[in-house]
Amino acid sequence: MRKKGGFERALPWDKLAEECGIFGIVSHPESSRLTYLGMYALQHRGQESAGIASSDGKKVHLQHGMGRVADVFDESHLELLPGKSAIGHVRYSTAGESALGNAQPILIDCWRGQIALAHNGYLVNAATLRRELERDGAIFHSTSDSEVVLHLVSRSRRRTLLEAFIEALRLVQGAYSLLVLTPDCLLVARDPYGFRPLCIGRVEGSYVFASETCALDLIDAEYVRDVEPGEVLWAQDDTLESSFPLPKQKSAFCVFEHVYFSRPDSLVFGRTVNPSRRLLGKLLAREHPVEADVVVPVPDSGVTAAIGYAEESRLPLEFGLIRNHYVGRTFIEPKQSIRNFGVKVKLNPVREILAGKRVVLVDDSIVRGTTSRKIVHLIRSAGAKEIHLRITSPPIVGPCHYGIDTPTKRELIGATKSVEEIRRFVGADTLGYLSLENLLRAVEDNGRFCSACFTDCYPTQVSAVEHQKELFGKSLVELST
Ligand code: SF4
Repeated sequence: MRKKGGFERALPWDKLAEECGIFGIVSHPESSRLTYLGMYALQHRGQESAGIASSDGKKVHLQHGMGRVADVFDESHLELLPGKSAIGHVRYSTAGESALGNAQPILIDCWRGQIALAHNGYLVNAATLRRELERDGAIFHSTSDSEVVLHLVSRSRRRTLLEAFIEALRLVQGAYSLLVLTPDCLLVARDPYGFRPLCIGRVEGSYVFASETCALDLIDAEYVRDVEPGEVLWAQDDTLESSFPLPKQKSAFCVFEHVYFSRPDSLVFGRTVNPSRRLLGKLLAREHPVEADVVVPVPDSGVTAAIGYAEESRLPLEFGLIRNHYVGRTFIEPKQSIRNFGVKVKLNPVREILAGKRVVLVDDSIVRGTTSRKIVHLIRSAGAKEIHLRITSPPIVGPCHYGIDTPTKRELIGATKSVEEIRRFVGADTLGYLSLENLLRAVEDNGRFCSACFTDCYPTQVSAVEHQKELFGKSLVELST
């Protein structure tokens, strides 16, 4: 959270937040411009910093800054990014003061030459590895978990960069979709669980890599396939070599990508997000039907599921909450204010739609419950007669250890209160969460997905993570930023 003289406050938007989006392209004359466009499409995955590294065949160039893609880059920046290959990164973080140091891509110059890295995910043993590396004399330039990979690559005695990179990946644990750019090649990797998405596309004969297919669509690239869990790719000119050098694991794709993080127009983990989200709404309507007059989504993430709920329940869908899209993550509140403007600056209720109505309010999740409470209050104050809150996922009972910003367990309302207690806290007349069974059905699970934040059963060992939390007394994201 950033504070400037006590005026600037973080918007109290109580959501899980995606940490990053990545994009890369090899051997294209307009590589940095296409990367810039790809990052626009991935902006929803991170808005606090943006960066591009490009290679002209001899040297890697880097431009990055705080803010959204449009804030960071203009024509002059792109002219400083020459070359035929590039990688880009958009990042979300919670710690403001050192955030520019943590902006990616991270670029190092070591005995192997220049290496730039863009990472989506979180390495659960990063703090342990970092302490060992520091004891051996390594000097870190950021507090990002991702920098550990670069130190491991730089210290490896392996002959080639690819071998050193694979050696480093064998040491790290957790979630990573990675793009690594050197003056003459692009390396791509996805962890053996496949927590975060990463796809391959083709545009005008060049290979493209992106967190979501919406980035391929924007640059008219054709979707080829996903990078497989545990796959390492080596891209140079127009060749792409694949290998699977890491121990195989049962896949654990993040189910929240389909619930909330990814764009509905993206193909993620082999399935378009839109039908998943619509089915979440339909199944929710079957599981928690209610006599009502109107279905209202919490924009924007609740919209697709609300369409599904309205279709299934044969109720009209109305946009009873209007979102201001031009609000950043922080805003300036009047100093003497006794009212909380936080939610109102972002959402405004439409009185004509809500007054006197029995409203089904559809949202994707409840994290701390504070924002849901304010939204329910907002709708009530606009004259709604009844409010029936419907959530398209089960209660969140544990933090994410794989690259999603979650509060600590004791701050998660789903971990500390019953559904009835949550209903009372948020002030709804009824509250219905989608069951885990129906969530997994909506995404065509077949045992492929991670749902650990709903079950507290983690696909990897979390002891290392808990150890880090104990040591630092901070949330995982604070540790990584
Ligand atoms: S714990 Fe939850 S948010 Fe994290 S990867 Fe698993 S499903 Fe996704």
